[in-house]
Order: sequence, then C-alpha cells, then structure tokens
Amino acid sequence: EGIPVAIIGQPNVGKSTLLNALLKEEKAIVTDIAGTTRDAIEDIMVVKGIKFRFIDTAGIRETIDTVETIGIEKSKNALQKARIVLFLYAEKAERDFLALQFEELVKDKKVLWIKNKADISEQIAEQSDLLISAKNNLGISELEDKLFQLA
Ligand code: GDP
Ligand code: MG
Repeated sequence: EGIPVAIIGQPNVGKSTLLNALLKEEKAIVTDIAGTTRDAIEDIMVVKGIKFRFIDTAGIRETIDTVETIGIEKSKNALQKARIVLFLYAEKAERDFLALQFEELVKDKKVLWIKNKADISEQIAEQSDLLISAKNNLGISELEDKLFQLA
C-alpha cells in the first residue's frame, strides 16, 4: 500500500534524516556513527494527496560486519521492490559509486538524484536533480513536488 520509495546511499549521507523530514517526525535514529541504521525502516506518508511508502535503508558500502551485511541485503531488496528510488549523496564520488553499483537494479525504476548537506558542501549539484539539506529542511518541498510528478 502506497507507492514504494526507497532511500539509498552510503552511510552517514543523511538517509534517516531525510526519512524523518519526509515523514515530519523523528522516526528513524540519526547519529553521526556510520552504520546506525541496520534494518529497513518504513512508513506511509500522503504527499499532495498521493500515498507513498518511504523506505529508509542501511547504507551501502563494503563491510565485514554481519548485521550490517544483512542490512545491505535488505537495502537491495527494498530497492528491488521500489518504484521510485531516491539516491542520496553528498560528494561526487558517492554519486559515481551508486550509479555504478545499482545501474542494473534501477533500470526499470524512476530515479531521483539528491545531493544532501547543501549547508556544508559546495553548492553545486552536478547533474543532480535536487540540492537539499535534510537536517535543515531545505529543498524538501521541492522533493515532494518531484515525487508528485513521478507518481
Ligand atoms: P544515514 O546513515 O544516511 O541514515 O545518515 P543519518 O541520517 O543518520 O545522518 C548522519 C549525520 O549527518 C547526522 O549527524 C545528521 O545530523 C547529519 N546530516 C543529515 N543531513 C544533514 C544536512 O543536510 N546537513 C548537515 N550538515 N548534516 C546532516
Ligand atoms: Mg540511517
């Protein structure tokens, strides 16, 4: 129920912060410790009259930690089930990593590239669809507009 939207990105990029911003509540745990989100957290939110199911995921990276590895598998499952994918990154290198890692998996999906931490990183969004600051609630309504258009 609800259009599934997966939030995908490397650890600490602000995925859980973005989930909370979209849900307008502190649902997911946010810390500056990489690997905080180990399980996929999801919730329904109506945006402009359309019901979305937002799925926060564990960060995608190479790891040897068992629980984290399971989390990454869950992220891939979440991504497979999603109709819309929000790729969150803060630096160009992360964007390139995600593009390479998920090229195949997202072929039949609608993808939005979102550059987060606009408050601290350089204010250039290279080919990205959106520049936001999840923590400061900047760009969230623009993101909601995009989601509405893609639904
Ligand atoms: P996740 O691992 O991708 O889920 O990242 P979190 O949402 O847990 O956030 C990781 C850290 O980045 C936390 O300390 C957040 O407060 C911080 N953060 C998230 N969004 C922003 C932002 O827009 N600007 C800044 N400066 N920090 C942010
Ligand atoms: Mg998280």
